[in-house]
Amino acid sequence: MYTTKRTALFIAVVLCLFCPATGAQAQNAEQHTYARLMKAGFDQIRSADYPAARDSFGEALRYNDSSADAHLGLGLAYFHLRDDKYAERELSKALELDPKASTAYQFLGELYYRKDDLETALSWWDKAVELDPADSKLRAKVERVRREHKTEKDFNRDVTSHFLVKYEGREKIEAGRIILRILEDAYGELGRSLSFYPDGEIQVILYSGQQFKEVTEAPGWSGGVYDGKIRIPIGGLEDETPGLRRLLYHEYTHAVVRAITPRCPAWLNEGLAQYFEGREIDSRQREVLKRMAGSGKLPALSKLEGSFMGLGADQAGHAYLFSLSVVRYMVDDFRMYRIKTVLDELAAGADINKAISGGLMVTYEEFERGWRTSLE
Ligand SMILES: [Zn+2]
Repeated sequence: MYTTKRTALFIAVVLCLFCPATGAQAQNAEQHTYARLMKAGFDQIRSADYPAARDSFGEALRYNDSSADAHLGLGLAYFHLRDDKYAERELSKALELDPKASTAYQFLGELYYRKDDLETALSWWDKAVELDPADSKLRAKVERVRREHKTEKDFNRDVTSHFLVKYEGREKIEAGRIILRILEDAYGELGRSLSFYPDGEIQVILYSGQQFKEVTEAPGWSGGVYDGKIRIPIGGLEDETPGLRRLLYHEYTHAVVRAITPRCPAWLNEGLAQYFEGREIDSRQREVLKRMAGSGKLPALSKLEGSFMGLGADQAGHAYLFSLSVVRYMVDDFRMYRIKTVLDELAAGADINKAISGGLMVTYEEFERGWRTSLE
């Protein structure tokens, strides 16, 4: 028995020795699996399926722990999942292995920017610019954040459990409190409507009109901006006004949508923001919509998926009106919890076609047709 076993083992060893391809094949198969996992991971990052991306890169690292790209991918997944501690660990590891990985510098910058440590963020981004001096978008961002840092360095800070508000000058203490109170109301109301409460603190920055223009470069018609932080211009605010409440509910809705999914078409995002600010469609606007629907002049929703920021005042006015009208139709005919399902579908990586049919149980086309008909 013993001998037979030894013989078998001996034969196996000899076979192996004389068959170098077996070892190479195994190695080849591992390389294949590694390559497949890496490709899947980056595809999942692109389609915003971050939990799946985290698993793919984590698995890829079991095959090759010294791959800078796999650590980078895992860092990106953690970054998007808002797991900052692990994101920083993985991005730093990627840089240890490849000091020229400029994406890792960029995301470390994003991470510190998000934590409101603008100085550290800028130091990471400066390194990214050094490696990629031709990246004009990145350079423009660094310039903008440097202006932001200069403006906000000496701002006061005030916090509640869900918000951090920053403003300049002690005379704005009361304004800061008013704003926090309204935002806490918005937090509760939207939370109940959507059954969703964002984790983590949302930052709100109050500027003078001039600072607002310099920091945000927002178009003239914009009353506030959400770009990861809520930024609003306030003058000598002393009391709560209905306009301020609407503005804050609007920008807070963008913060909530962003916390659910980074991939929301503009018509849905802006429609929801106006819905929650309490904006109504007046009789004149209703006439405009009716006329446009009747003459087939309403734009396709697919034309309203990208940002409205580049539009002129007139075009923007129309785009916002269409968005509100679509969302009102959605709320009336499908209910808010179904809209939340559409957002969840988007968060899970579906495109808008799939998200609409998954959430509303009709195709994007049928939904759009229903909206047009509702206006006639
Ligand atoms: Zn908006």
